[in-house]
Amino acid sequence: MRVPPLMRNQLTPELEAQLVSQHEAEIGELLPVLGPLFGFGVIAFSIWDYLIDPAHAPLAFFLRAAFVGVGGLAYWPTKLPWTPLQRTGVIYCTHSAAIITCVYLLDGGFGYGLPAIAASCFVLSVSTLRIKTFLLFALPPFALFVFLAQLKLPVFDFFNSLAQYVFSLALAAAIMLVIRFLRQKAFLLECELTRISRHDGLTGVYNRRYLTELGEREIALARRHGRSLAALMLDIDHFKKINDSHGHDVGDSVIKAVTYACLAGVRSIDHVGRFGGEEFVCILPDAGEAEAMRCAERLRQSVEALQLPGPGDPIRFTISIGVAALKPFHESWDALLKDADIALYRAKETGRNRTVLAS
Ligand code: GH3
Ligand code: MG
Ligand code: MG
Repeated sequence: MRVPPLMRNQLTPELEAQLVSQHEAEIGELLPVLGPLFGFGVIAFSIWDYLIDPAHAPLAFFLRAAFVGVGGLAYWPTKLPWTPLQRTGVIYCTHSAAIITCVYLLDGGFGYGLPAIAASCFVLSVSTLRIKTFLLFALPPFALFVFLAQLKLPVFDFFNSLAQYVFSLALAAAIMLVIRFLRQKAFLLECELTRISRHDGLTGVYNRRYLTELGEREIALARRHGRSLAALMLDIDHFKKINDSHGHDVGDSVIKAVTYACLAGVRSIDHVGRFGGEEFVCILPDAGEAEAMRCAERLRQSVEALQLPGPGDPIRFTISIGVAALKPFHESWDALLKDADIALYRAKETGRNRTVLAS
């Protein structure tokens, strides 16, 4: 059982990867709509080409169509092994290259077309959340621009255009960082909500709802891979008396102490959760009857050995445990847990502070 620590304002490497891949997957979902729109815009500018330089407009149209045609392969998912992020990069680079080469081709093109080149930089703002990826995508069209612009423009105009291009890229990068900041905030909030919805407020272990989800998943996995699985149901003995004689705050401390004993006594692949008031469930993947009974007995003994400081004598308490191992007739997680519950009931009936295996 693992509860990853959630840093409030800082992402762990796993969360960072999760945030970035979530963003990229969502952009990937939008590509079939945004990609063709971008492509349509690039080709529609052919009309503008005819207005500013009719002589070169046909060639410019051909170039626009060729670049967009190649980039268009990335609009929709295909059998090609490329990620949504790589598809985004291909679309940006080919479409920007179309604009830049046409601007170069047309007489006075740099003067008329620079705003279009600058505007296309802003596609990068939404494409990624990583500055490295941003720069990687921006580089090929930028290099093409520098190469073509220095061929055609006088020195002052060249540096003037370059400055405007760099300014647009810097602005697009700043917008990307703002988007990242907002997304990160929303993502952390979402993580926090997920954590709250899955964990018990008092003990921090899984709650009943998430335990059920995990139990169903573990049963499906065990059946699929032909592995064993066991469930333990634990209940603190005479807990009401502890509450009545020491108060609810001490009762809460006892619940927490039992939780920590459970966490310390199971393997890292096991799941521990609080099922209800003073009842706990442990899911033990890859454990048969014998292993589950050994684990349960270990937990029972470790709780029996605990002492909580009280006003007088130290407070001691015990637990009873019902153990059930997955059998072919268990149709669901609920059925397995029901058997563990019946075994727990027998443990209570036969004197408490004991471990009973479901028959
Ligand atoms: P048994 O040995 O048969 O299990 O007896 P018990 O007294 O432990 O069982 P019972 O179900 O009668 O009592 C459970 C008590 O747990 C009743 C309820 O007030 C208390 N309880 C439930 N949730 C909490 C909690 O979050 N904190 C505290 N302190 N008490 C709780
Ligand atoms: Mg109970
Ligand atoms: Mg009890």
